Amino acid sequence: MKKYDVVVIGGGSAGLAAALEVRKNGVESILLLERDSELGGILLQCIHNGFGLKVFKEELTGPEYAERFKEELLEKNIDYKIESMVTEITKDKIVHYANAQEGFVKVQAKAIIITTGCYERNAGAISIPGSRPAGVLTAGTAQKYLNIDGYLVGKKVFILGSGDIGLIMARRMTLEGAEVLGVAEILPFSGGLQRNIVQCLEDYDIPLYLSHTVTNIIGEDNIEKIVVQQVDNFVPVPGTEMEFEVDALLLSVGLIPENGISEAAGIKLHPRTKGPIVNESYQTNIEGIFACGNALHVHDLVDFVTTESRKAGIACAKYVNGKYVKETSRVNTIAENGISYIVPQSISPLNMDKSIELFMRVTNVFKNVDFVIKVDGKEVRRLKKKHLAPAEMEKVILTEKEVESANESISIEVEERK
Ligand SMILES: Cc1cc2nc3c(=O)[nH]c(=O)nc-3n(C[C@H](O)[C@H](O)[C@H](O)COP(=O)(O)OP(=O)(O)OC[C@H]3O[C@@H](n4cnc5c(N)ncnc54)[C@H](O)[C@@H]3O)c2cc1C
Repeated sequence: MKKYDVVVIGGGSAGLAAALEVRKNGVESILLLERDSELGGILLQCIHNGFGLKVFKEELTGPEYAERFKEELLEKNIDYKIESMVTEITKDKIVHYANAQEGFVKVQAKAIIITTGCYERNAGAISIPGSRPAGVLTAGTAQKYLNIDGYLVGKKVFILGSGDIGLIMARRMTLEGAEVLGVAEILPFSGGLQRNIVQCLEDYDIPLYLSHTVTNIIGEDNIEKIVVQQVDNFVPVPGTEMEFEVDALLLSVGLIPENGISEAAGIKLHPRTKGPIVNESYQTNIEGIFACGNALHVHDLVDFVTTESRKAGIACAKYVNGKYVKETSRVNTIAENGISYIVPQSISPLNMDKSIELFMRVTNVFKNVDFVIKVDGKEVRRLKKKHLAPAEMEKVILTEKEVESANESISIEVEERK
């Protein structure tokens, strides 16, 4: 069986950044496996600009952003295989993959980095009453059809869910000549970034129906009509029905980290993030298996994916080079009131730098509140927050001193400003 120091699974922005960082930190033997026919991942279908503002201080399109990393990967002669699907990984770090040239192959790795991205919740995941005609598809699928294959999936379109992909597709379909009749969001606030609401809906006069959902899909072979209704606490309000004649319904109702192979290997997933539970080094519960990017938790900005994956790459190289200190004590990070989750879920003080960044999402929209940081239940610091929304990932930096002073846990919660 062929041996590698590090096998990276997935060639999106996370996999590319992680593989490069592993190499820059002295590891020669690396293999990156990507199931698609090109490296770049989801970035390849995101032809709008807005990528790279933090990492490159430039506004790039998705493919341009990916290209910078692909060029560096080639320069550094990192081995990669495309059209190679990883089907299984084991606790002993054997990676099984398949491709047309080699058939089924097993390779032995010293360490593995999981960067398999995420998938979209589809019509089967949300129960919409009505028939099941053609023309109901996820916003990401519609984006791929349009931006990569050149097909416009409809001319009269409605979008269910106000996640970023749906908002971006509302603008994109409008620019291609389709009429976007509206976006319905079951929650009282949008699931997308504020900048996307302004630039993709308001600038094109596309109505956003908050606290509304689709309650019926009508059509024989193809979708013909949908019924949109207001909801009160998720229950449709009688008498508020609106009918829209459509030929496509796009769903933008959430992304889920893709972790089939991780789960099968015995990697523990977090109930909220649906990604692996990791420590400060992005290491999962299986020693030598790391995770980052959208496979770990859903990110809205690629720059955050790159930064996180670089750190995972550095930690993985440290592990391979025998410099990772085996955890002797750990501090758990706990999401309290108003916080949905925190990544990483634990910190081993021996492996952290002078500070550590925690990433989190809040459970609701909050205005003029504080983030309260507690060490072992005792308040140590407050951070003022003007506006918080579940769509926007938040970051808190903990100092080495704060982590070292903790015996068991560091918690964060949202509290009304005193
Ligand atoms: C529609 C959309 C619009 C966005 N717009 C913006 C924006 O405007 N600005 C911004 O900064 N960010 C944006 N983002 C966010 C950002 O682009 C993503 O968060 C980031 O690119 C995710 O990178 P990733 O590598 O984690 O995942 P992906 O890019 O999804 O890469 C995962 C890769 O793993 C591969 N893979 C999965 N399973 C296997 C397997 N078993 N074997 C082999 N390969 C496998 C996949 O084929 C894929 O190539 C957007 C995201 C989306 C979805």
